[in-house]
Amino acid sequence: MTSHAPVSVAIVGGGPVGLCLAMDLAWRGIDVTVLEQRAAGEPPSVKCNHVSARTMEIFRRLGFVRDVREAGLPADYPNDVVIRTRATGYELARIPIPCRRDRYTSRQGPDTGWPTPEPPHRINQIFFEPILFRHAVQMPKLTVINRARVEGVEQNDAAVRADAVEIDTGRRFSIECRYLIGCDGGRSGIRRGIGAKLEGDEVIQRVQSSYIRAPSLLARVTQPHAWMSYLYNPQRAGNLVAIDGEERWLIHNYLLPHEQDFEAVDRDACIRSLLGVGADFQYQLLAKEDWIGRRLVANFLRDRRVFICGDASHLWVPYAGYGMNAGIADAMNLSWQLAAHLNGWAPEGILDAYQRERLPITDQVSRFAMKHAEGAIHERTHLPPELEQNTPAGAAARAQVGRASYELNVQQFACAGLNFGYYYDASPIIAYDAEQQPRYTMHDYTPSTVPGCRTPHLWLADGRSLYDAMGADYTLLRFDASVGVEPIERAARERRLPLNVLDVVPREPQSEYRHKLLLSRPDQHVAWRGDALPADSRELVDRVRGAA
Ligand SMILES: Cc1cc2nc3c(=O)[nH]c(=O)nc-3n(C[C@H](O)[C@H](O)[C@H](O)COP(=O)(O)OP(=O)(O)OC[C@H]3O[C@@H](n4cnc5c(N)ncnc54)[C@H](O)[C@@H]3O)c2cc1C
Repeated sequence: MTSHAPVSVAIVGGGPVGLCLAMDLAWRGIDVTVLEQRAAGEPPSVKCNHVSARTMEIFRRLGFVRDVREAGLPADYPNDVVIRTRATGYELARIPIPCRRDRYTSRQGPDTGWPTPEPPHRINQIFFEPILFRHAVQMPKLTVINRARVEGVEQNDAAVRADAVEIDTGRRFSIECRYLIGCDGGRSGIRRGIGAKLEGDEVIQRVQSSYIRAPSLLARVTQPHAWMSYLYNPQRAGNLVAIDGEERWLIHNYLLPHEQDFEAVDRDACIRSLLGVGADFQYQLLAKEDWIGRRLVANFLRDRRVFICGDASHLWVPYAGYGMNAGIADAMNLSWQLAAHLNGWAPEGILDAYQRERLPITDQVSRFAMKHAEGAIHERTHLPPELEQNTPAGAAARAQVGRASYELNVQQFACAGLNFGYYYDASPIIAYDAEQQPRYTMHDYTPSTVPGCRTPHLWLADGRSLYDAMGADYTLLRFDASVGVEPIERAARERRLPLNVLDVVPREPQSEYRHKLLLSRPDQHVAWRGDALPADSRELVDRVRGAA
């Protein structure tokens, strides 16, 4: 067995979560190695299609958001969500979502005008993951070892050793690190290795999914195009996603409760029925992507020097398209805390915050997705039999189902709350005050500076995004330049905590910023706020660096 040179952090799994974690760590100056069993740049399977605004903000900070924005569907292909009886059938409702050409400018639609420099993006994982990979391998301090499978992990008080095998040669090697993070997906061996268990609901929905090539489908659809189509008819319900806006599609067939075996259900007949096409319709099955919708969250996220992150620690039905986005939020939380410790300005105690902050929020998001799944399953299993009739009763049924479906689904496709509204309310490294954070919901977002919330975004008078101006580390936002901040600058210097003071001149008046000072964390969450520094700035600095 050969040994690779030791690194500070090793990450098992180079999916979207592992790559984002690695890039953020490297950006913060930490040497990191990713071990991934797939080949270099090999696309994943065709799953995730929604990159949230919050994730796009992170891509912006890491410097490759434009590449992601410019990939995927053609620039003018509508990103709308529609509810139809069949792909070529009646349209019941339409949720307008701007195409990517108009994404930054359009004000038409329920997910526009959000307080962010980066609106959401509809793009399949097969297109954006290779972009993440290309960017990652160019970063100094970041190494990706492809075609390597980690088979075991051992840890002691000082270090972790991962034992791996080169898949193509069978050669075994090991790599030592100070911390190891399992971003190795739903079947995570690292999760099993640390003894964590997924708990929750094992089966919510079985879905027979097919990735198909059907060059003639677009021409058969008479309604304006859409990115995602819910297909509801009294026989069967499904969902169709445009992958390249030309000929590739992902079609989900929601199996009925008695259909337990994916292979026992006639895939071809279901696809034709959901599309509303006959035997003459030609298509090619590119891949079977069958999956089970679950709601499972790990009972813990860390054993001493080993952490789990992303799908390794949670799995849920992809309503609101949030599995990966939540995983990337995990990664951004863990990354700055690890970097703070490894860069020498925070004690190891800061790492306790990861589980304390992420586990409660993960549980909540999993329940949002589950609740939405229950609503959607009820909706599609209680459709009026006359839905497809060309009669006044049929038209009335379509109008009623369309209205109800719009109301239900706009919550998941315009989920501002899910994007920006999550907060940490029981963290050891946040200095709370008496005010309660606004309620966390899937749809609604109330910007707030209550400690624990996402630092509300604003545009500066000089035209920059606040987030672009904040930098990588702690930022003290000062809204009144006459307020003295020298004591906290001194305290930060003493503790080697990197602190940037930013005098904020907003482009427009901001009602949510009611205090003259706000301390924003490296992950853009509020750590403290006030009209003047506290009596003891050293105590505040120690709290936010995990040394209180
Ligand atoms: C139908 C469907 C639709 C979805 N839509 C969305 C959506 O719109 N938005 C969204 O946010 N999420 C969505 N998701 C969820 C999303 O796809 C996942 O949450 C996301 O891929 C998880 O990323 P990850 O990096 O944690 O894990 P993965 O993507 O599973 O990556 C894990 C990586 O680890 C590697 N690996 C595993 N074991 C080892 C080992 N021992 N050694 C080395 N490498 C290893 C694997 O090869 C893989 O590359 C959807 C899921 C499904 C099923």
